Amino acid sequence: MPVFQDFVVISRNFVPMQHADILLHLAEHEPVAFDGGSPTLYQTSNFLFDTAENMRHALINEDTVPFYTRGTNPTVQLLQRKVAALEGMDDALVLSSGSAAVATAVLGLVKAGDHILSVAKPYSWTAKLLGSLLPPFGVTYTLADARDTEAFLAQVTPRTKLIFLESPNSWTFEMQDMEPIAAFARERGILTLMDNSYASPLNQQPAAYGIDLVAHSATKYLNGHSDLVAGVLCGSRDLIQTLFKSTYMTLGACISPYEAWLMLRSLRTLPLRMKHIGETTRAVVDALEGHAKIRRIYYPHTASYDQPELTKKYLKGPGGLFSIDLKTTEHTQILAFANSLRKFKLGCSWGSYESLAFPAITTMTSLNYDNPNIVAERVRLSVGLDEPQDLIDDLMAALELA
Ligand SMILES: *Cc1c(COP(=O)(O)O)cnc(C)c1O
Repeated sequence: MPVFQDFVVISRNFVPMQHADILLHLAEHEPVAFDGGSPTLYQTSNFLFDTAENMRHALINEDTVPFYTRGTNPTVQLLQRKVAALEGMDDALVLSSGSAAVATAVLGLVKAGDHILSVAKPYSWTAKLLGSLLPPFGVTYTLADARDTEAFLAQVTPRTKLIFLESPNSWTFEMQDMEPIAAFARERGILTLMDNSYASPLNQQPAAYGIDLVAHSATKYLNGHSDLVAGVLCGSRDLIQTLFKSTYMTLGACISPYEAWLMLRSLRTLPLRMKHIGETTRAVVDALEGHAKIRRIYYPHTASYDQPELTKKYLKGPGGLFSIDLKTTEHTQILAFANSLRKFKLGCSWGSYESLAFPAITTMTSLNYDNPNIVAERVRLSVGLDEPQDLIDDLMAALELA
């Protein structure tokens, strides 16, 4: 049985690798039957041993040696190494969803009496975790506007154990100056966790600015094909090992080997997809700037964005998600705009091959979006692999009806 004995700490002596090297070559030299050209799919729950001694060895090293797939599986492990390297961090866990990644990290790091400081508008289910799930267990939280670093950090209390960041955040794309926040936290022994889904590891590496843990909804760019739900958590070897032994194993939100294998396949084209998506989105946003039917555009890479210094400091390239506020607040006109889109399909997720529109008006009475920050005339758009002119034509025609 091939065992990953070469599972080593990557980043202490980290030599930055080219994305192509990470995605095409890193960690892919394990012996495989018949020298298959694609990674071996170990679609198994269990691993078997020829001796009790070998079984014991695997169990003692369950975080690196395949023993049981809820812990370590070679296909998942290959994926973990790729995403850790993309983030420039030691180690990673890959989980069954982005929400599982955030919950596994947060629940593993706080206890009764602790306080969490979070950005004002985290992803909706992160807000639910902080606001509904944790308080009955004695964990308190503060949501605060983090566009002003000083005012944000003034909300830290002696009990603050964790600072949660999401830069840029979804819907309004507010950014945080993570470097001084991470430095402040580190001095006080407070951990920092960043949801980096929007930028992808290609466009932003929070570890370079001192962030301790990075979470992704891998459902979005990392997988990018709308065929699975997954999450990623990257950090130091120590932190990841601590989480492995606590919440990762107890909550059991592991990814299936098959889905890990699909994601390995998707990852090969991440740089190509991000390049196309970024360029297309810039062209689309440029075409929309100043449009008579649009009151405001939210996108870190456009001239009207209000935190350009943070775009410049942190984002290496543009992403494909942005929002517009229509000028009209008439529900019939907002619905007419949304319903006449053709290339943009109506749907909630983002970061995939298809272009999607998520009208905020659809969320108004739903389970988790009772959010005063979201107004009816806002529409979030996710650019996929369409051609820019097709998307521009689609939006222009729909705006006629708004
Ligand atoms: C989608 C999303 C999540 C949750 O990820 P799932 O894979 O859907 O669980 C977390 N954060 C952000 C920013 C997201 O867009």
